[in-house]
Amino acid sequence: MSEPSSAEKLTSWAAGSKNPVVQFVRTTLGPLFLILFTPPAAIIFWIVCSFEPFNGSLSPLLRADGWRSIAAHWPWPSLPAAAIVLVFLAVELALLQWLPGKIFEGPITPTGSRPRYKLNGILAWLVTHALFFGCSFGLHLFNAGIVWDHFGEILSTLVLFALIFCLFLYFKGRYRPSSEDHSLSGNFIWDYYWGVELHPALFGINLKQLINCRISMMGWSVIVCSFAAKQAELNPGGHVSNSMLVSVAITVIYLFRFFWWESGYFTSLDIMHDRFGFYICWGVVAWVPAVYTLTAQYLVLRPNELAWPVAAALFVVGVGAVYINYAADAQRQRVRATNGNTKVWGRPPELIRASYTTADGAQHESLLLASGWWGLARHFHYVPEITLALAWSLPAGFSHLVPYFYVVYLTILLFDRAGRDDRRCHKKYGVAWEEYCRRVCRKIIPGVY
Ligand code: NDP
Repeated sequence: MSEPSSAEKLTSWAAGSKNPVVQFVRTTLGPLFLILFTPPAAIIFWIVCSFEPFNGSLSPLLRADGWRSIAAHWPWPSLPAAAIVLVFLAVELALLQWLPGKIFEGPITPTGSRPRYKLNGILAWLVTHALFFGCSFGLHLFNAGIVWDHFGEILSTLVLFALIFCLFLYFKGRYRPSSEDHSLSGNFIWDYYWGVELHPALFGINLKQLINCRISMMGWSVIVCSFAAKQAELNPGGHVSNSMLVSVAITVIYLFRFFWWESGYFTSLDIMHDRFGFYICWGVVAWVPAVYTLTAQYLVLRPNELAWPVAAALFVVGVGAVYINYAADAQRQRVRATNGNTKVWGRPPELIRASYTTADGAQHESLLLASGWWGLARHFHYVPEITLALAWSLPAGFSHLVPYFYVVYLTILLFDRAGRDDRRCHKKYGVAWEEYCRRVCRKIIPGVY
C-alpha cells in the first residue's frame, strides 16, 4: 500500500485532527455510516412522497405502519428501469463524444498534469431535452411522465449500480490507475468512500465529466421535467400547478446555467480536488436524483396553487440567485483566465499572488481574488446557492418537511465544504491564504460568519 500523498492528506475529510478517535470517526465510522444509511434513505424519501400512510410526511417513520408501508412498497431494480438508465447513459455518452465542442484544459493536478474536457454541454442539454419531449409528445414513443412511473425502480437500480461501480473504481484505481493522481490510504472503508483516483478514465472517456455532468446533472433536469409532465397527466385538463411550474423552472434554469458554465465546474472542488469514490460518484449517480429532486417529487401528487404574485416573486428570487451564484463563479474564473487583467465591479481587481508546489516539485502561482463577490466573504457564492434551492422548495408550502430536506442538507454540506476548502487552501498557499483571510475575514455570510 502506498502512503497517502500529500494531496490526499490535504483533501482528506480527516485533515485537521491528530486525535486517533476523531480520525477513526472521520475516516471509518462516519464513512461507514453514510455508505450503509444513505442508500436506503434515498429510496425511503420516494416512498414518503408516494404512498400512504406518509402522504409526504416523515412522522409515520415513528410508527410500525410506516415501516410496514416501506417494506410493502420497497422498489427493486427492474428490467424497464435498467433499460431507461442504459438508454439514457448511451445517449449521453454519444452526445458527449459526437457533438462538436472546444477542448478545455482543466487546472493543473497535484502531480502536475492537466485533464482535458470537451465543452459541448449546452448542445447536449438542448439535444437531450429535444429528444425527450420529441419522443414523448411528438412521436408518442413513451409518456413524458415515464420517469415518475418507474422512479422507485430507477432509484433502486441507480443505487445498486453506483455501489458496485464504486467498487470497480476502487480496484481500477488500485491496479489500473489512469494517471499519477491516485493514492491509497490502506483503510478500505476510506478508500472506497473517498476514492482512489482523481481523474479516472475508461476507454479515453473522462468519467467525472460523463457521470457528474452528463448523467447526473442532465438526468436531474430530465427527471424534474418528467415529474411536471406527470402532474399534467394526472390532473384534469393536463393542468400543471404554478407551484410545480415555478419549482421546475428555477431548477431547469439553474441546470441550464450549469451547462452554460460547464468549464467553470471543471475548476470546482468536485473535479479539482475530490477523488472519485462513493462520496462523489455514488452521490451524483444515486443521491442527486433521489434528494435533489425532492420538491418536484413531492409536488407531483400535491398540485397546490400559489397566489400568482407569490409564484412570480419566488421565480424572480430564484433566478436572481442563480445569476448571482453564476456571476461569482464566473468572476473568479475570469480573473484567473486573464491573469488579473480585467475589471471587477468596474475596478481593477484586488489580487493576492499565491505560490504553491506540486508533487513533482514544480513551483506554480495562483491568483486569489480579494474583491468583488470574493471580497464579501471567502465563500459568499454559497449564499445564492442556498437561496435558489430555498426558492424552488418554498412553492411546496409549509405542510411537510420533506420538500425542504434538500435545502437543509445543502446548507450543512456547504458550511462543511467551506471549512474543508479553507483548510485545503491554507495548506496549499500558506501565508498567502492567511493574508486573504485577514483581508476577507468572513467565511460565508458577510459581516456575520
Ligand atoms: P469554489 O467555486 O468555491 O472553488 C473553490 C476553489 O477556488 C478553491 O479550492 C481554490 O482553488 C479557488 N479559490 C478559493 N478562493 C479563491 C479566490 N478568492 N480567488 C480565486 N480562486 C479561489 O468550489 P465549489 O466546488 O465549492 O463550488 C463550485 C460551484 O458549485 C458553486 O457555484 C457552488 O455553489 C456549487 N456547488 C453546488 C453544490 C450542490 O450540491 N448543489 C455542492 C457544492 C458546490 P485553487 O486550488 O484553484 O486555488
